[in-house]
Amino acid sequence: MRRRLFALASALSLLLCLTTVVLGVRGHFVSDFLWWNGRRLTAGAFNSRGHVQVTTRHFVSAAPNQPPRRWEWFAEHPPRDLEAEADRNGWTFSVRLPGIACWSGTDTTLVTHDVLLPIWPVFLLTAIMPALWTVSRLSRRRRARRLAAGGCLGCGYDLRASTDRCPECGTPVPRREESSA
Ligand SMILES: [Zn+2]
Repeated sequence: MRRRLFALASALSLLLCLTTVVLGVRGHFVSDFLWWNGRRLTAGAFNSRGHVQVTTRHFVSAAPNQPPRRWEWFAEHPPRDLEAEADRNGWTFSVRLPGIACWSGTDTTLVTHDVLLPIWPVFLLTAIMPALWTVSRLSRRRRARRLAAGGCLGCGYDLRASTDRCPECGTPVPRREESSA
């Protein structure tokens, strides 16, 4: 049961990991923007140049030509440099580190809050579980192979002539029922 849960979680994690790879690579060719357009509030996420930016915009007053409430997606080529845009707009940075930034700004029509984060840490985090799963799978296979071949579980030394401990590394010799399992 636990092994199954681990496998399921690893598969989900792998899916996320592959998604970050696709987004990361794609972001160097086009920017993707996914928006929720409300009457007063617009919230969205941008994928661009190896970064994800989460944005909320509160409009000071709902303009009459404001788009209706709906989801909106569009892609732009070449990809936008979101941090440079914030600079050009004169927004105020509260955090500004290499690849990580938070800023906010106000003009006559809106108040914006933005967070810019790199994608690669997400890739690393989501890669951990699939990597662990692969390692445990490989070690289970190796163990099974060694047992089947009558070898030591620790070092693979041929134990067919030994009864107590492996003469090479001292690992106890697997019991008969264990070796046939
Ligand atoms: Zn051994």
